[in-house]
Amino acid sequence: MKNLDEFYAEINREIRAKKPIMAICYDFDKTLSSDDMQSFTLIPSFDIEKDVFWQESGKLAEDNLMDNNLAWMYELIKYSKFKGRSLKREYFKAAGAKVELFKGVDTWFKRMNNYAASKGVELEHYIISSGLKEIIEGSKIAGEIKRIYASSYYYNTDGVAEWPAQAVNYTNKTQFIFRIAKGYMEEYDERVNQSVPKENLRIQYDNIVYIGDSATDIPCMRLVKSRGGYSIGVFDPEKNNRSGVYQLYNDGRLNFYAPADYSARSDLTKYVKQIINEIAAKEQIKTEQEILRQPANMFKMKVVLNQTAEKFPNKLTDKEKRELKKMNQDLDELIPGHNN
Ligand SMILES: [Mg+2]
Repeated sequence: MKNLDEFYAEINREIRAKKPIMAICYDFDKTLSSDDMQSFTLIPSFDIEKDVFWQESGKLAEDNLMDNNLAWMYELIKYSKFKGRSLKREYFKAAGAKVELFKGVDTWFKRMNNYAASKGVELEHYIISSGLKEIIEGSKIAGEIKRIYASSYYYNTDGVAEWPAQAVNYTNKTQFIFRIAKGYMEEYDERVNQSVPKENLRIQYDNIVYIGDSATDIPCMRLVKSRGGYSIGVFDPEKNNRSGVYQLYNDGRLNFYAPADYSARSDLTKYVKQIINEIAAKEQIKTEQEILRQPANMFKMKVVLNQTAEKFPNKLTDKEKRELKKMNQDLDELIPGHNN
């Protein structure tokens, strides 16, 4: 009996040692940073009025039925040629270093990681943005992010931006939620479309949080919320224009809304901690159920085995009957308390 106890104790230890993972996915522009990233330094440094730039790229998109992101990416290359200044990765990264972030963002990730760890949960952070990946990579929080999914350029052999490599917009943003859940992280990995059984997901959908600020985040908010995860709408604390989040909330897109204040005593911190608490409690229950499932599964195997033997008594050879009996005895030894 002691051996059996040890057998299960070892299995249980292994089950308990497996830490659940949760993910927070962030939009970038006006969710983590207070303006569209292109507006900060990139466009001003080209001596272009940012309003003029957006007007022109908007018109280009409209006149040509063009994707908005592809339009501004094209406009930027056009301007760089016109001004005789090459668009290089380093240039974008330098622009990223100047991007302003909302209050508390710079310390948010470590604080939340520590809080989640104290509840036995491993927390990962992802950015899913229509903005430029190279700029986000230059921002001071890039090191805290497990993976940045965003629009990006293809660079030629001279290192100059030449063509869009990725253009991320509202609906194709959702593919990255599937990538994160299924663990097929690379942008080119087409296995993202394969069906993955719940127990094989790298991160369960109900352990995913999505934070965004606008209508372009709706498909992601909807996807995450409909699968049991959590979506949070944020608004600029200084401008305090809440009509967007009220609308999203009334339309059932959001679990929470809050000012984009990431500091320790903010509402956002409070809500995310509540979410972490709920995920941790849910995972603890799942762990205990997984432990109960082990001997119960052994019992199920025995039942199925005996049912099969009873169903086809004449089909089994003597050798098969002996083997079945042996399997039955082996199973008996692995099922505590079923014969008492
Ligand atoms: Mg945004």
